Amino acid sequence: MSTPGLLRAALASNSGPAVLRCVSNTPMRRFQDSAPRRGNFTTDSYPEIKRDPRFSQITAEHVAYFRDLLGKDSALVDGVTADVSSDDMEPYNGDWMRKYRGHCKLVLKPASTGEVSKILKYCNDNMLAVVPQGGNTGLVGGSVPVFDEIVISTSRMNQIRSFDEVSGVLVVDAGVVLEIADQFLAEKGYLFPLDLGAKGSCHIGGNVATNAGGLRLLRYGSLHGNVLGLQAVLPNGTIVDDLCTLRKNNTGYDLKQLFIGGEGTIGMITAVSIQCPQRGRAVNVAFLGADSFEKIQLAFREAKSQLSEILSAFELMDSYSQDMVHRVRQNKRPLDSEHPFYCLIETTGSNSEHDAEKLEKFLEDVMSKDIIADGVLAQDETQIKSLWSQREGITECVGHFGGTYKYDVSIPLKDLYRLVDDTRERIEAAGLKGDTEEFPVVEVVGYGHMGDCNLHLNVAVRRYDKRVEEVLEPFVYEWIGKINGSISAEHGIGIAKKKYLGFSRNDTMIDLMKQVKKLYDPNGIMNPYGTVISDSNTSAWDTIHFLSLYPPSTTKPKAWSQQAQTMDNLSLDTADLEKLNDKDKTELRQFLQNENQKARVQATVHSIADVCFKKCITGTIKNGKLDKTEEGCMANCAERFFDISSLTMKHLQQIRQT
Ligand SMILES: Cc1cc2nc3c(=O)[nH]c(=O)nc-3n(C[C@H](O)[C@H](O)[C@H](O)COP(=O)(O)OP(=O)(O)OC[C@H]3O[C@@H](n4cnc5c(N)ncnc54)[C@H](O)[C@@H]3O)c2cc1C
Repeated sequence: MSTPGLLRAALASNSGPAVLRCVSNTPMRRFQDSAPRRGNFTTDSYPEIKRDPRFSQITAEHVAYFRDLLGKDSALVDGVTADVSSDDMEPYNGDWMRKYRGHCKLVLKPASTGEVSKILKYCNDNMLAVVPQGGNTGLVGGSVPVFDEIVISTSRMNQIRSFDEVSGVLVVDAGVVLEIADQFLAEKGYLFPLDLGAKGSCHIGGNVATNAGGLRLLRYGSLHGNVLGLQAVLPNGTIVDDLCTLRKNNTGYDLKQLFIGGEGTIGMITAVSIQCPQRGRAVNVAFLGADSFEKIQLAFREAKSQLSEILSAFELMDSYSQDMVHRVRQNKRPLDSEHPFYCLIETTGSNSEHDAEKLEKFLEDVMSKDIIADGVLAQDETQIKSLWSQREGITECVGHFGGTYKYDVSIPLKDLYRLVDDTRERIEAAGLKGDTEEFPVVEVVGYGHMGDCNLHLNVAVRRYDKRVEEVLEPFVYEWIGKINGSISAEHGIGIAKKKYLGFSRNDTMIDLMKQVKKLYDPNGIMNPYGTVISDSNTSAWDTIHFLSLYPPSTTKPKAWSQQAQTMDNLSLDTADLEKLNDKDKTELRQFLQNENQKARVQATVHSIADVCFKKCITGTIKNGKLDKTEEGCMANCAERFFDISSLTMKHLQQIRQT
């Protein structure tokens, strides 16, 4: 990697207020985490999430099938028929933030797409719920089970399948670790078009499933553009082979896009083909301090205009985040002086002299205009890494004190930092932030991919605490909703944001997503409790929808009887109570004629009445927004209640008469 020639020269020539100097060579002390701490079970933190009774409990017979299929003991972690140490199971049950923790008892590690297909088909036929898992670095609780879902890990699917050195197209198994792929590409003069702090652990399948954004989206674009094709397995075992390696392919719907960012809700990705750019030979990194957020915005504008095609990252950090890094790592700060805001600018190009000259001019310009107050430019690769670690290390250091409430949001640039100020003010006003143990909150920090209007608002806590959560939510989401931002810029929805999706997506969009989910995963076995599209708690209503999705002539899936059990477990949202059409009614009637369903029908009627009544008193959360009780709601609800209950009542009478 080349070294820019400006350093001391810039120092000498700079007549502006700032001083450009070389970063310290002091070796950085790696932050050592204390002994692993376990978070609470998700079932305790989210008692409203109930296990869907449609799903079977895992039995020894199921385990025997999987053991036979996968062929060796190391391909399973079996806590169903054997005693496994919690050290073996915990990495799959707990997430990176120690915020979510499941009760999984079985982990499967298939080595091929064929094995994934057989696993999913068996799970679908036997109503076994599953959670696909890559590197388990996801930050919204989507990668770990809630109850006893089976984890299907991609860790043994880790082969680089092919690389075309002319076109730059890489084809890999889903379980290849991002950093391994990038190192492989580096040897060929190419680069993986995604980079993020968790690169040493996350898998490419997981990256695609979350549509990860990362540090260089500004330059290389999103995975929606770079992924050329993929191979995936649907819940019923069908292999979707769309491992296209062409950039242009306008032949109908681009269905792979549904898997990119689909968070494992409609199928499991087993391989990916991706367009990789040439690796720039000249990389320069500068770390700058500014006295206000307005000045950081000006610096960004200048960077875009003056560095244009070589600008590869523009990252924002506030002083609170940098204080955290310093507090945890006890390292030397890059700049001697302290400032409210910092930014990291990276350029990547092919001509080091040309790039260095451009960056030099840019730095001189922003300093002479007093946009930037102080700055430092990396001299070699070690210093580049050191500067990047000031940014990449924030996530880890913020989590050091016990946990983090994380909000990864998109906000129009001019308002980006205001959310951090407003949140800090709220937390302080509630008396939750302080330096001693009694206060749950350590600090409120803001940083992120400023080049993409992507803010990471992090609240560092000593422990997860409902009081903090209540101050933060729905406040943060309402704040974002008001300015038409996005409640999830790059981390996805998972468990964390499931009930708030309505702040960023309208009802039509959410309904369409639900339809896609039903089409691909009618039994709802994939990631059943995370993401809005996996809506396990409305399963009774789904049952009725299910009737309309399958015309009478269609053979009912084996799991139909289990679907029916959900009639016992009603947790209906009034928004889902739609009018039944005639075909639904006929089908439902036929179904209810079964004598065995009598008790269930009775329970259903009572549950619906109960749910409707409660919702009318307390209001209802509809797509994340609180729909307060109104007369209209009462009438609406009652009408819908009678729609379904009169049908079941009528049928009950028929049953009684016969
Ligand atoms: C320190 C740190 C920094 C981070 N920085 C960023 C960042 O800059 N930008 C960013 O976007 N994210 C970032 N993340 C979040 C996380 O790393 C990404 O979401 C990553 O893409 C997840 O990959 P994974 O393999 O760990 O997936 P997992 O965490 O294992 O899974 C994530 C989700 O994808 C599903 N999934 C996993 N594999 C598959 C598959 N093969 N098929 C279908 N579904 C699957 C899971 O069920 C889950 O819902 C960061 C995380 C950490 C810990």
